[in-house]
Amino acid sequence: MIKPDAVSAGHTGAIIKIIEEAGFGIHAMRKLQLSRKRAGDFYAVHSERPFYQDLCQYMSSGPIVAMVLTKDNAVEDFRTLIGATDPAQAAPGTIRQLFAKSIEANAIHGSDSPENAEIESNFFFSGMDRY
Ligand code: GDP
Repeated sequence: MIKPDAVSAGHTGAIIKIIEEAGFGIHAMRKLQLSRKRAGDFYAVHSERPFYQDLCQYMSSGPIVAMVLTKDNAVEDFRTLIGATDPAQAAPGTIRQLFAKSIEANAIHGSDSPENAEIESNFFFSGMDRY
């Protein structure tokens, strides 16, 4: 998911180019704005964290671009491509190092396991939307 800060800054195309050049296929793609409730559902795992309310506000503040990506070893390779959560800690050339504004507005989300990739794909895409 390309997050609201990167979409509103006009980085969607540049980020997709990096993703494709890294060997990922785009299986499905959709631009939408999450309601605060849907943002809260997506990040429900963080509901006890102190930054949860801010995170829900930020994630529903503007459009995002959701994608289902394909590649061998996709989850691990995509986490490497996006870099550390905090852009100050992200490796040079990673998407977060290049485009993130802060630890919260950090440009992009990547699923952290194949199981969560399945859950998160179903969150944004269903039925014929997905294939
Ligand atoms: P990720 O898997 O690298 O996205 O990191 P996490 O799952 O730990 O956190 C989810 C999202 O919550 C991050 O991508 C950030 O947008 C936000 N976040 C994480 N840690 C912090 C924090 O310490 N402060 C704030 N404001 N937001 C955070």
